[in-house]
Amino acid sequence: MPECVFCAIAAGEAAATRVLETARTVAFRDINPQAPSHVLVIPKAHHRDVAALAEVDGGLLAEVLAQAHAVAQADGIARTGYRVVFNTGNHAGQTVPHVHAHVLGGKRMGWPPWPPA
Ligand code: 5GP
Ligand code: ZN
Repeated sequence: MPECVFCAIAAGEAAATRVLETARTVAFRDINPQAPSHVLVIPKAHHRDVAALAEVDGGLLAEVLAQAHAVAQADGIARTGYRVVFNTGNHAGQTVPHVHAHVLGGKRMGWPPWPPA
């Protein structure tokens, strides 16, 4: 099994509740949801964070963002609104070093976003 937990989920070697999948991305429910709808969208390829992904494959980053909106539509939160968050590095509280978009919605959210209300 790969050492990276999100690589393992992408490969189907670790369990996750999948919402959507494309050739190059997977969306699955966060194990510790911070909102009624909380889904993570990842590229199947391993990149450390959104900055690293933007540098080497902007097209794949665009696919991740398109999937974030597709997830919002599938979960019925596209019209009411949702938040897309890429925690990046230590001060942002990034705990999994495989780039992931948090898609959060289903309730009115406060500001600042983290820690979530
Ligand atoms: P970060 O803090 O890095 O931005 O977000 C990592 C997110 O991944 C957290 O919200 C955490 O709950 C979630 N997470 C960590 N490990 C797993 C896992 O094995 N499965 C799922 N579905 N979510 C995970
Ligand atoms: Zn990985």
